Amino acid sequence: MESFASQKKDIKSMTLDELRADMKIQGQPSYKALQIYRWLHRGVSSFEEMTDLSKIVRQFLTEKYYISVARVENKLVSDYDNTIKYLFSFADGQCVEAVLMEYQHGRSICISTQVGCKMGCTFCATGLGGFQRNLTASEMLSQVQAAQKDAGVRISNIVLMGMGEPLDNYNQVIRFLRLVSSQEGMNLGMRHISLSTCGLVPQMRAFAEEGLPVTLSISLHAPNDDVRKQLLPVANAYAIEDVLSAAREYVEKTGRRVIFEYALVKGVNSELRHADELASRLRGLRGHVNLIPLNAVRERDLHPPTRADVDAFLRRLEARHISATVRREMGADIEGACGQLRR
Ligand code: SAH
Ligand code: SF4
Repeated sequence: MESFASQKKDIKSMTLDELRADMKIQGQPSYKALQIYRWLHRGVSSFEEMTDLSKIVRQFLTEKYYISVARVENKLVSDYDNTIKYLFSFADGQCVEAVLMEYQHGRSICISTQVGCKMGCTFCATGLGGFQRNLTASEMLSQVQAAQKDAGVRISNIVLMGMGEPLDNYNQVIRFLRLVSSQEGMNLGMRHISLSTCGLVPQMRAFAEEGLPVTLSISLHAPNDDVRKQLLPVANAYAIEDVLSAAREYVEKTGRRVIFEYALVKGVNSELRHADELASRLRGLRGHVNLIPLNAVRERDLHPPTRADVDAFLRRLEARHISATVRREMGADIEGACGQLRR
């Protein structure tokens, strides 16, 4: 399947312009590109389903291209809040997880951008499993399409916060953002998309340059380099001040405020002195702090603070005029929460 597929082109990762150019080279009328593109973004899994194309064209497409799909291997539905955790597989048998959530304003899906992750954060189940490979733009799109189809819903928000570090798969992620927001595709506004990064500074700067109005979440998790290094190995490569200056650039270039993710880990970063230090670091930066009481990961001896400590941390930030909230847990009973996704 793999070698078979790899000789063909991944048609669902192509932009409409690229498809038009290909059709032209192949001697096909270019209006066919739009027809094909629309079918792909409606989530068809075979060229046979493109019923308004002639048999000859469908055959030609089958010979030159393949359509990547995400197959539902398993799904868990939360008893608390209808959150659904999916295990999807791709053509080569690799699997990722995605989480579909229901909010008052619609449906949101948290998708994966890589199989595994290279970053090795100490508190993250994905990081513990190592890295397998990057996902293609079409495989990101396929997760959204497969969940929509399976659950019979229309997804209105996407978060790139599942398995993997999106900015470590930069080109495919940018391609995905352009595809999913294209008018002829799902037409989902970039403002309804969030991307979370552990703080890869050069890629954050490049991402700011793209000028896409996506919400950028930055996994800060610490008020200084010493504490950050205990949790995120990437902190050895990039200093917190550089991460924050890249965040400032993002705010300036896109006009959007950024979100700082802060997982509270008992005895590591959850004391009031940490809140004070965080507040002074973030002063003047247009951002919002999202506090996440750590989700325990079986393999690690790391724990969340008590509810009272979480509240005290929040109040201390607020007292210092830092906009902050404690994140609502979704799907905790199905290990669908942050950092609990594995293969
Ligand atoms: N790689 C990206 C996006 C995926 S992780 C990133 O790190 O930002 C999504 C979020 O879950 C990140 O903020 C991450 O730090 C957080 N997270 C990971 N493990 C967690 C855990 N055990 N408890 C709470 N949050 C966790
Ligand atoms: Fe990778 Fe994000 Fe997990 Fe860190 S928290 S290991 S960057 S997925």
